[in-house]
Amino acid sequence: MDSDTFRKLGHELVDWVADYRDRVEGLPVMSRVRPGEIRARLPSEPPLQGGRLPEAIAALDPVLLPGITHWTHPSFFAYFPSNTSRASILADLVCAGLGVQGMSWQTSPAATELEEVVIDWLRQMVGLPDAFTGVIHDTASTSTLTALLCARERTGGFCQNREGLQGGEPPLVVYASDQGHSSIEKDVLLAGFGKRHLRIVPTDRAHAMRVDALGEAVEADLAAGLRPCAVVATVGTTGTTALDPVAAIAGMARRHALWLHVDAALAGTAMVVPEYRWMWRGIEEADSIVFNPHKWMGPGFDLSAYFVRDPQHLVRVMSTNPSYLRTAQDGEVRNLRDWGIPLGRRFRALKLWFHLLDEGVEGMRARVRRDVENARWFADRVDGTAGWERLAPVPLQTVTFRHVPEGFSDEAAIAAHNLDISRRVNEGGRAYLTPSLLKGRQTLRVSIGAETTERRHVEALWQELQEAARAGRG
Ligand SMILES: *Cc1c(COP(=O)(O)O)cnc(C)c1O
Repeated sequence: MDSDTFRKLGHELVDWVADYRDRVEGLPVMSRVRPGEIRARLPSEPPLQGGRLPEAIAALDPVLLPGITHWTHPSFFAYFPSNTSRASILADLVCAGLGVQGMSWQTSPAATELEEVVIDWLRQMVGLPDAFTGVIHDTASTSTLTALLCARERTGGFCQNREGLQGGEPPLVVYASDQGHSSIEKDVLLAGFGKRHLRIVPTDRAHAMRVDALGEAVEADLAAGLRPCAVVATVGTTGTTALDPVAAIAGMARRHALWLHVDAALAGTAMVVPEYRWMWRGIEEADSIVFNPHKWMGPGFDLSAYFVRDPQHLVRVMSTNPSYLRTAQDGEVRNLRDWGIPLGRRFRALKLWFHLLDEGVEGMRARVRRDVENARWFADRVDGTAGWERLAPVPLQTVTFRHVPEGFSDEAAIAAHNLDISRRVNEGGRAYLTPSLLKGRQTLRVSIGAETTERRHVEALWQELQEAARAGRG
């Protein structure tokens, strides 16, 4: 492609994206296509001759858009939000345009040094002390895996690094609550602890980790000759945004020399608001912390912020340093390939930089407060309306609840009724939410936080849900 064509198509596509963002509110939030429908519209063989890019651009609307679930829709209430601000889109264009591989400082000093600057801005924004150093990873799953690898090597004195799983040491044990994210279990497996050595600690009525039960589990493992290694505390669980008590867990971690990793994938963003920081009180005692600005904050997927108290330990675990990667500046600079799992890395810092300059800390605080207030408004409706039942506290922006019609007492019937409500809402196309299971009970779950979600969208959702509940009983 020559430069003139690139310019022309580029302008056209920027217009297309801008128009898409403007009209998304009128589209059905959840895609309605059937499995295989999009595939069937596409040729099964690759083009032999080039020069046909305009066909792809012309197909965006008729072929692909029906197969898109609109995460930027103001009535997207499913999962957790995944925002991508317009500033972040522009940064991704620059990132691709530069085509940089930021594996070492020398392979593009600006990529490393801008990342050092903006990740430290982020640290300040969420009120973490300067004892923490940050690095950008792709996802929380990767950050938590990195944390568990570092924990394993600290407890084992680098024995696993040397001898793999054959070191003959007593098995190491990891602890997390029954509300911890599925990535914890996956990372425990990937890091070689083995499923048998993940302890699922029970939670209290607010769905937060019971520290007394954590203590008992640690004692039982010690008595059995195992080696307690790490605890993952979650601030803002995926099911209900429950808050594990970080300060108390940190006390337990200190007593037993456990690595404390805090998973605040969604909730980290809320800490830009000083009055919410009580939710992770004790955070300064963590060994590592992850949160995903790509969820609620605004820079697009993928951007996970990983903070550690001991970056030298991280580099010692992650570095391999073969001769072909060595450069003259190695002693003076960060080579970010040694701060995580992959060698190559994109210039992700650009989208954080663009987003922060565009929105400002005050802009972000206003949006987070708006979303939390909208969630409280919604929770008040649930609490104040007969037949509706809230199933968890609402510290942040997610409300977990269900509808129990008069005369319903059978759990299976209640579950079917609530699944029917979510199906009606989602298929209606005007809003999208995810049902989920909470300790065996079928729930509805509304998660607020798309950039464009205002009170009127939450009000419309509440109407929609009540109508779906009535229709389901009739
Ligand atoms: C979303 C989420 C994750 C996983 O996030 P990825 O970045 O997609 O790996 C982990 N923990 C919690 C609490 C989450 O909400």
